[in-house]
Amino acid sequence: AKYVYDFSEGNKDLKDLLGGKGANLAEMTRLGLPVPPGFTITTEACRAYMADGQLPPDLRVEVTMAVRRLEDELGRGLGDFHDPLLVSVRSGAKFSMPGMMETVLNIGLNDASVQGLAKFSDDERFAWDSYRRLIQMFGKTVLDIDGERFSGALEQMKDVRGVTADTDLTADDLRELVGWFKQIVHEESGREFPQHPREQLDLAITAVFNSWNTERARLYRRRERIPHDLGTAVNVVSMVFGNLGPSSGTGVCFTRDPSTGHSGVYGDYLPNAQGEDVVAGIRNTLTLADLETLDPTSYAELRQAMRRLETHYRDLCDIEFTIERGKLWMLQTRVGKRTAAAAFRIATQLVDEHLITMDEALERVSGQQLSKLMFPQFDSGAERTLLATGMAASPGAAVGMAVFDSATAQAWAAEGKDVVLVRRETNPDDLGGMIAAVGVLTSRGGKTSHAAVVARGMGTTCVVGAEKLDVDVVAREMRVGKKVVREGDVIAIDGSSGEIFLGAVPVVPSPVVQYLEDGLDVALEHAADDDTRELVKAVDRVLTHADTVRRLRVHANADTPGDAHRARVWGAQGIGLCRTEHMFLGERRVLIERLILAREDAERQAALDALLPLQRADFTEILREMDGRPTTIRLIDPPLHEFLPDLTELSVKVALAAERGETGEVVDRDRDLLAAVQRMHEANPMLGLRGVRLGIVVPGLFALQIRAVAEAAAARLKEGGRPHAEIMVPLAASVMELHLVRDEAERILADVAAEQGVELHVPIGAMIELPRAALTADRMAQAAEFFSFGTNDLTQTTWGFSRDDVEGAFFTEYTERGVISVSPFETIDRRGVGRLVRIAVEEGRRERPDIVLGVCGEHGGDPESVHFFHEVGLDYVSCSPFRVPIARLEAGRAAV
Ligand code: ADP
Ligand code: MG
Ligand code: MG
Repeated sequence: AKYVYDFSEGNKDLKDLLGGKGANLAEMTRLGLPVPPGFTITTEACRAYMADGQLPPDLRVEVTMAVRRLEDELGRGLGDFHDPLLVSVRSGAKFSMPGMMETVLNIGLNDASVQGLAKFSDDERFAWDSYRRLIQMFGKTVLDIDGERFSGALEQMKDVRGVTADTDLTADDLRELVGWFKQIVHEESGREFPQHPREQLDLAITAVFNSWNTERARLYRRRERIPHDLGTAVNVVSMVFGNLGPSSGTGVCFTRDPSTGHSGVYGDYLPNAQGEDVVAGIRNTLTLADLETLDPTSYAELRQAMRRLETHYRDLCDIEFTIERGKLWMLQTRVGKRTAAAAFRIATQLVDEHLITMDEALERVSGQQLSKLMFPQFDSGAERTLLATGMAASPGAAVGMAVFDSATAQAWAAEGKDVVLVRRETNPDDLGGMIAAVGVLTSRGGKTSHAAVVARGMGTTCVVGAEKLDVDVVAREMRVGKKVVREGDVIAIDGSSGEIFLGAVPVVPSPVVQYLEDGLDVALEHAADDDTRELVKAVDRVLTHADTVRRLRVHANADTPGDAHRARVWGAQGIGLCRTEHMFLGERRVLIERLILAREDAERQAALDALLPLQRADFTEILREMDGRPTTIRLIDPPLHEFLPDLTELSVKVALAAERGETGEVVDRDRDLLAAVQRMHEANPMLGLRGVRLGIVVPGLFALQIRAVAEAAAARLKEGGRPHAEIMVPLAASVMELHLVRDEAERILADVAAEQGVELHVPIGAMIELPRAALTADRMAQAAEFFSFGTNDLTQTTWGFSRDDVEGAFFTEYTERGVISVSPFETIDRRGVGRLVRIAVEEGRRERPDIVLGVCGEHGGDPESVHFFHEVGLDYVSCSPFRVPIARLEAGRAAV
């Protein structure tokens, strides 16, 4: 295998092999942008290393060749005494993992070459500063020495010299610091800091490979569902220096604002600095406007490069750059992460700029982002105490108790408390706390700081750089002027405005929800500002486009007229699942008890007769609400004992009555009830007498429901309505079950049609939720006009997992150990459960070409699953009303 690619050999489509950073460095090189020469070691080399535990021998040779090419190109030698070539070693996986993997700068410096660097650059201070940075980064990332040892020594040096900024240390100070650092390396690792440049290089490459498997990296990947076996690439890049005095510097920028989407110039710049200084919040950064004044030529060149990149990628890009003595260098670019609102705005802005089509705009947003926009926001009319304002880094409205370290955040969150993690700045060690917190707040750093980037990626509310906050981690409090917020005090942070409030602030629904409920005009009228108006319009355009291109219809699961109404307003084209069990609760419970306890047909019939008008009224209302749209009514599904009192409670009650010698009608009834409950007790109720089995065993039960549906449809027809009722049979495993129900149903439908003098067409179909039903779909289709996949039960019965028990019991362990990457109850298991769905679709259609196929489990509203259902050719998905807009969007995305 070829393990090493020069930047001139790769391109942006090779992310699998070169990682995101390497592929984009190659792309920028191809575009002719000023990228320092270098090469990328492939992810394949990383996988080979992980498999063997050592660097592949071929790799060593290829690295030698690549280094020599680099030396020839630049006319300098790695670690030479005269004018040394230095390189950085940078990780870069396929998916960006902010702060996960480590970078080592200035490789090639040693006791000799530092002199050469000083002489060549004519800046002794710079040379020693670079050397101390190398030892510091190398010590921390490669030799695993606690970074505090080095930063502590640096602080101490500054104290001794009586200065506050790193930049105030002199060349002599830094030379002395290098001595300290080398001593720290020796004390902590038991070895000398390696002087040989090639040894430094090989150790750094190995360290990057190893960092793929750190706890932090694994945690991030689990959260983001990134597979553990991809591996990372390594980029070796010739160094350029932002720390060569005031005409040098380093910065990051975006081609558009990643939180609002507005185009303009967004970025942070730090003069006389190297590498991560700018994102670490060590010194306060300047803006790009400041750079324009400082160095107009480099600024103009940077603007040019930003435009080039945005045109080339046709998307928001983020960029890392360095200026070395007035010369601009591009060190990284990628299509930038953005907030959900920005994603919608940017997508439509790019359409208006004729850079992308509406189809592409649809691909640039996701259902997950849409669902984020449906979260409530702070009520601006409510009374609130503003503590301070920072920078809006990741939107949302978070209310929680202030905590000042990651461990406390995790511990309190585990107790079910909402916490806001407050730090001066975050670093990769805070990841656990950031995941646990409902919001993240920092007093330092900009929109590109670690906290901001990571929080945006996770969709966690975040405010950064609130400089008025004096965060005291040791005392576990923060001070704002005279006010003190202690650990446990409630604060509220607004990730869209950057505001920080003392105490809880009430929240109001989102403008997107208002748009969905009341339409575009009302939402625009009520929007708080132009940003909101732009967002609402963008959502409307994208969603409307999704509706025009999607093939899947979207139905909702709704059991009441109220739910049905909301579903329709939010765009549902029908009801895919109307459960009927709640219709037997409340006051009607008594009737069910009577039905179950009945000893004679007459008694049973009386109970059924009493239920009929009630059920008919339920269905009439829902059919009225859904007029003209398919409404799939599922016959009663759960085991009957769910409608009876609890076994233990009832036993106690009966025993007490007996002891006290009580008699009478109530006591007799309780005793009968207890007998019935005992009789119906099942060890595995979910696999027991429920669904169609119940309908077959309990006389009159299904007949009641079918008659109620038929009479409701007849009533609507007579009112001039257009009822589209459908009857769905739950939990059938055999076509014989369907035949029994269908025969009875057809008889009742005919009776009602004759009685009422109307023509009734009520399709009868099967819920496919048992493996056997899927595997015998050809036969099932003989007696079913439609199939609706009940993927919750189908997942339970295919895996043999009890949905109500597994999540807490062993799914965490299963996820950790890689047995599953995501709960199959959340996203459909394509290989197993999905296979059954495919079989049933194919065989069902073969038997009955006009069969209607849908899905009504939770998966109907899960973005990834929606794409699967599109692929297998279902006609519709049905999900909870709240997820209808998400399913519409994803069905559109699946179709383009
Ligand atoms: P991350 O993935 O955490 O952003 P990077 O590999 O991009 O890590 O490197 C961290 C920092 O070091 C960045 O600010 C980058 O600009 C800087 N850097 C990396 N390589 C070089 C180089 N060859 N010359 C100058 N600065 C570099
Ligand atoms: Mg980094
Ligand atoms: Mg970077």
